[in-house]
Amino acid sequence: MSKRSRTDLLSLPPEDLALALETHFRKRNQPIYRTGQVRRWLYEDLSGSIDEMTDLPLKERDALKDSFTLTRLEKARVELSQDGTVKHLWSLSDGEFIESVLIPSKKRLTLCISSQAGCAMGCTFCATGWGGFQRQLTTAEIVSQYTASRRWAEDHLEATISNIVYMGMGEPLSNRKALHDSLSILNQGYAVGARRITVSTVGVVPGILELAERPEQFRLALSLHAPLSELRLGLIPLEKRHPLPEVLSALKHFNQSGGKRITFEYTMIRGVNDALELIAPLVELARSVDAYVNLIPFNPIPYQNWEPSKNHRIKKFAKILNEQGVPAAIRETRGRDIDAACGQLKAHTLAQLEKPRKQKD
Ligand code: SAH
Ligand code: SF4
Repeated sequence: MSKRSRTDLLSLPPEDLALALETHFRKRNQPIYRTGQVRRWLYEDLSGSIDEMTDLPLKERDALKDSFTLTRLEKARVELSQDGTVKHLWSLSDGEFIESVLIPSKKRLTLCISSQAGCAMGCTFCATGWGGFQRQLTTAEIVSQYTASRRWAEDHLEATISNIVYMGMGEPLSNRKALHDSLSILNQGYAVGARRITVSTVGVVPGILELAERPEQFRLALSLHAPLSELRLGLIPLEKRHPLPEVLSALKHFNQSGGKRITFEYTMIRGVNDALELIAPLVELARSVDAYVNLIPFNPIPYQNWEPSKNHRIKKFAKILNEQGVPAAIRETRGRDIDAACGQLKAHTLAQLEKPRKQKD
């Protein structure tokens, strides 16, 4: 079989993978339990290559390699922050780079993963947006950020990943097939609870509606950043195509489809979106979809002169929101010293290498 037609073992949702493996082994007159062996190597042993699957006879490993591949990310760089955050830079087979970040806290180890190489959305406060879009990630490239990071965490931190957030490079709801397949693999294959997986979007309405249709309770984060359409438009070009009222009605639908939780992400930029008058409309929006609000100090990027809001202003936002019955927390930017904040990935590397590419609308 030619290289091109081989299927990646990490590209199929578990049920489809089982079918593909059963067909493969049946054709080879092999017992059906071979499928279970491969699944165990993948999902329990986090195997990085077919050669490692040593309870398959050598001949079967070779035959498997003729029909299947197994993506393994090349580690280009790993950086450790003073606060414990760990950033991995991975190089892909075509020379693109993506990053993922491990964020330890008292009770959790969260992995922030990328869904695209670059991003086409062009949000004005986001370094990835300024870098432009390179390409979609495959399902296997998304999933293998998890397997490679989990292997690293188990070896170096003696901890396992408890939560996953799609908050790295890219807009996950613009890469929907790979997003949905990766969600199925992480949840059903690797047994990461749906409520421990958060998909973050800037407001891709058809994608929100599609996610609402899934029976699992994956969490959704909306990158809101401004409660009024006019203001949001200056930060997020997508506001033009999917204005806030349309996004909100999609969120209501999501919210009503089986008690799924929504978070608003609100990056606070001094003098841009932190006026006290914005709190009332923010409260109204959060109440309408029962959202939790994360206030995030803006992390400066090379392309804008903006600064984060003053601490007392961020605290004031949190206090008033909480007083008004909207649960709100301040999320400290982690890994600042290694540029590892979610949405910040690759910023400084890109800035050093080249001028920002032209933004797409
Ligand atoms: N495209 C998706 C997911 C990736 S961005 C989205 O936009 O939701 C992940 C988060 O990082 C988003 O909430 C984004 O708004 C935030 N972010 C991007 N640039 C930032 C910056 N300079 N400072 C603080 N947060 C930022
Ligand atoms: Fe893309 Fe999200 Fe950055 Fe906007 S904030 S440019 S959607 S990665």
